[in-house]
Amino acid sequence: MNVFEKIIRGDLPCKKVLENEQFLAFYDIAPKAPIHVLAIPKQSFKDFNEMPKELLAEMSVFILEVVEVLGIKESGYRLITNIGADGGQEVPHFHYHILGGGKLNWEKLVK
Ligand code: AMP
Repeated sequence: MNVFEKIIRGDLPCKKVLENEQFLAFYDIAPKAPIHVLAIPKQSFKDFNEMPKELLAEMSVFILEVVEVLGIKESGYRLITNIGADGGQEVPHFHYHILGGGKLNWEKLVK
């Protein structure tokens, strides 16, 4: 079982931002921005490629609620989802990174 599945089951703690029946948002343990939150579906899908379209649409609504709770809806934020080896995905449970709380860099990403 991966780390996000343990969080969903309550076997690992998280610093929760928002939750409903289908989704959970919590602070990333190693933040890359002043605000760095992860949004995940409670059902297990490996990555964006595997996500049912309807669930993606519902997740978009959830994320809009999360950025409102975080107070970054108007100031701006970045949504990222890493996919597979080249995408740098570490946890094989679909998630969006929600980054904000300051002006973000957009540097060359390929080494
Ligand atoms: P990715 O590389 O896109 O798979 O992102 C995985 C993210 O999960 C990384 O930003 C990690 O810092 C974060 N992470 C790993 N374990 C935890 C945890 N227990 N609680 C919160 N975030 C975590």
